Amino acid sequence: AGATASDKLGKSSIPGVKKIIAVASGKGGVGKSTVASNLAIALAQSGLRVGLCDCDLYGPSIAHMFGTDERPYQNDEQQIVPIEKYGVQLISMGFLLDDNSPVIVRGPIATRYTQQFLRQVAWDNLDVLVLDLPPGTGDIQLTIVQTVSLDGAVIVTTPQEVALIDARKAVGMFQKVNVPIMGIIENMSYFLCPSDGQVYHIFGKGGGEHEAKRLGVPLLGQIPIEMHVRECGDEGHPIALEDPAKSASSKAFREIAAK
Ligand code: ADP
Repeated sequence: AGATASDKLGKSSIPGVKKIIAVASGKGGVGKSTVASNLAIALAQSGLRVGLCDCDLYGPSIAHMFGTDERPYQNDEQQIVPIEKYGVQLISMGFLLDDNSPVIVRGPIATRYTQQFLRQVAWDNLDVLVLDLPPGTGDIQLTIVQTVSLDGAVIVTTPQEVALIDARKAVGMFQKVNVPIMGIIENMSYFLCPSDGQVYHIFGKGGGEHEAKRLGVPLLGQIPIEMHVRECGDEGHPIALEDPAKSASSKAFREIAAK
């Protein structure tokens, strides 16, 4: 294969993958892994071949959200073969670590591990690989965005100012390495109360929209707070698998995937 411009800059593409998208957040707990999981499923439902990689060494959660404790195996070429669930090829850096031992991997080792890891997976002919980055803008995140040839990044935030401040930092990190920001997904945008039918803006209103305008990037979607989103995550059966007529979140994820 011919070298691309980004190869010459020291970045490289990942074998078996056409397009790589990072899902990032400046802050933990805003629903980044929930968004990455549901987006991957919604993209697969739209007919694409999709992979999802949980890059969070310290707090991997994707396997749990997909309700699997299956472990990948190594093939004859010493590559790691992803497991497959809900139409998504799935891998977690956490798969390679012992479940019960705390992760004591120092920065430089974690960084090297991440670089190696991303190239050792036997992805099977993916249209798009979604990388669920660890929250924040530290060493590991920077290594990934510098060494993988990313086609774009999606930033997850809540409407709350403290989340937006950190989301801005994440945007800055991608801009520094010339990765296009595909847009912002605002999570926990509002709560539609089932008993009184009122909409409550629990974490504030319009933060994501305002930030997207300020940055000149699209607001890709707004995901409501739904008890079912959390329940589905806990049960290992993400909300995007539900009928979009019955869940505003499921509908929102499908609309985002269609973009
Ligand atoms: P992060 O990856 O940013 O740390 P998670 O995706 O792990 O965040 O989400 C944190 C918690 O919030 C999880 O228990 C998840 O199920 C829940 N959650 C995320 N988004 C929503 C939502 N829109 N509605 C209800 N619960 C949500």
